[in-house]
Amino acid sequence: MLKTPSEHGIPQSSNFSIVDSVVDPSELPSEGGLLVRALFFSADPYLRGHVRSGRPSSIAVGNPIRGFIAGRIEASTINDWKVGDLFGASLPFSTVQIVSLKALRSTAFWKLSDHLTEATLSLGVGVLGMPGATAFGGLMDVLRPVKGETLLVTAASGAVGQLVGQLAKLKGCKVIGTAGGPEKCKLLIEKFNFDAAIDHKSCSNPAQLEALIRSSAPEGLNMVFENVGTTTFETAYRCLAIGGRIAVCGAIAAYNEKQESIPLCSIDPMQMIYTSQRIEGFVCTPWLVGARGGNEWIRVLSEGVKSGDIKVTESFYDGIERWPDAFADLFLGNNVGKVVVRV
Ligand code: NDP
Repeated sequence: MLKTPSEHGIPQSSNFSIVDSVVDPSELPSEGGLLVRALFFSADPYLRGHVRSGRPSSIAVGNPIRGFIAGRIEASTINDWKVGDLFGASLPFSTVQIVSLKALRSTAFWKLSDHLTEATLSLGVGVLGMPGATAFGGLMDVLRPVKGETLLVTAASGAVGQLVGQLAKLKGCKVIGTAGGPEKCKLLIEKFNFDAAIDHKSCSNPAQLEALIRSSAPEGLNMVFENVGTTTFETAYRCLAIGGRIAVCGAIAAYNEKQESIPLCSIDPMQMIYTSQRIEGFVCTPWLVGARGGNEWIRVLSEGVKSGDIKVTESFYDGIERWPDAFADLFLGNNVGKVVVRV
């Protein structure tokens, strides 16, 4: 649960606490409910805004952290769910909890038994979870890739970025990724089949990053899948080609800053008019809950993983007490791929 809000800087273990509570299975509502056991907790960058105070999404002190989990049904009074079914969901971070039918209907809750076993269930907070829906929706419906186009993905080795790049390669695009350090850049090329990788940590200023982007994409960028924000956003925007589009997915470089210290990005309307450029922000929820594109995202990604066309890298942390470390590592760049906490 949240012990103290973290207003800026990297969140620390001291911001969180673990509490014991008793769940009584006999309290499972007979009119519809589930007793669920979490096997994996996710750590995701968006939660950074939830552990600050004064925001609509802020978690109140003393309340549980709510995030994405993957787990197993232990008892059910709902016809569609049986004991042993595997699921992904957005729920409070509790190892065991009762979920009423009403709560189930008001959150993202999806079946994973058709795609995964308990041995592979960690993918339910990654490629077959929220990051998968984000990558699929942002690429396919916001950017709408065309064969032969060039895409830049920022934070490309992470949970979302690695999937975006691989999906775009399957669509016949040229894919360039930015990542922090030579090992992550090697991963992009050798495991995820990217065409080029840029080590953003090797750039001491935006002009250097721009030069590297332009040398990998001399014809300009047709698409940018933007995860980092601030100067990275501006740099990628300057490299946009005629008809170029930017899907604004995240701005992680700003998440730990004091609100008043976050630099505003400049956009030149003159650049965008005769070039018909488009910048569009989005959140993953419509894809995750099937309101946009039905179950297409999970079908495509599940088949991709099974066939080996989509490869996945995960960073595991063992035990609930490691969750704060897992969360902090997202902002330190210590994770490689999807951050998963085994509980
Ligand atoms: P990642 O697995 O990519 O982990 C975060 C990575 O971001 C780090 O490993 C690091 O990679 C990079 N990073 C961290 N701080 C900085 C910084 N200051 N400057 C540059 N890079 C930094 O996370 P996700 O894939 O889960 O999320 C990626 C982005 O997508 C985030 O911005 C997130 O908020 C956003 N998102 C948005 C969603 C939506 O619905 N719009 C849904 C899901 C995610 P490196 O070491 O390579 O620098």
